[in-house]
Amino acid sequence: MEKKKTAPTVGILALQGSVIEHESMLRKIGVNTLRVLKPEHLEQIDGIILPGGESTTLGKLLKLFSIAEPLKAKIENGLPVFGTCAGLILLAKEIEGEEPHLGVMDIRVRRNAYGRQIDSFIAHEVIEEFSPLPLELVFVRAPAIEKTFGKAKVLKELNGRIIAARQENMLVTSFHPELTDDETVHRYFLNMFE
Ligand code: GLN
Repeated sequence: MEKKKTAPTVGILALQGSVIEHESMLRKIGVNTLRVLKPEHLEQIDGIILPGGESTTLGKLLKLFSIAEPLKAKIENGLPVFGTCAGLILLAKEIEGEEPHLGVMDIRVRRNAYGRQIDSFIAHEVIEEFSPLPLELVFVRAPAIEKTFGKAKVLKELNGRIIAARQENMLVTSFHPELTDDETVHRYFLNMFE
C-alpha cells in the first residue's frame, strides 16, 4: 500500500505583523501551521513565512528572541522561506541606507519605495511564474527591489520596480497575497518544498 504523504508544517514568524492572515490562507490549503516565537520552533517546520509588519521592529525582535542566527543558518541550508513586504526586507542582503537583517538574499531593497502620500494601492497583474491569470496585488507602504544580483531572479516588474523575486529556496513579494482570497502564491510557495 502506498504511504500517505503527511501535510507539511509551515511556520509563520509571529513576533509582529500579519500572522493571522497567512494562517487562515494556509489552513484553507490544508497544511499545518506553527507560530514561530522561539528558536526551538524552527526544528518543527518544513518552511517559513516572514510576514509583513515593520522591518526595523521585526529585525530587533528576531535578535531579542534569539531567532535571527538559527533562522539564517536554516535558510542558508535550504529551508523554504517566503517573505512578504517587511519579510522581504528582512531577507535582503542590501537595504538602502540601512544595515541588513538576515542578509541572505541577493537583492537590494528600498523601503517605502512608493512614497508616503500614495502609500497603499491595489493592482491587477499577471505574474507568469505564479499563474496565467491576473492576481490581485495589495501594496501597503511597500518596499521595492531595486536590483537583483548573484543568484536572485526577477519574477515581476511593475512600473519599473521589481515586486517579486526568487532565489532557490527563497521567495519574496513586495505585495501581500495573504490579504486577498487568492491562494495562488501560497500554493506556489508550497511547491518549493521537496
Ligand atoms: N513599511 C514597512 C517597512 O519598511 C513594510 C510594510 C509592510 O510590511 N506592509 O518595514
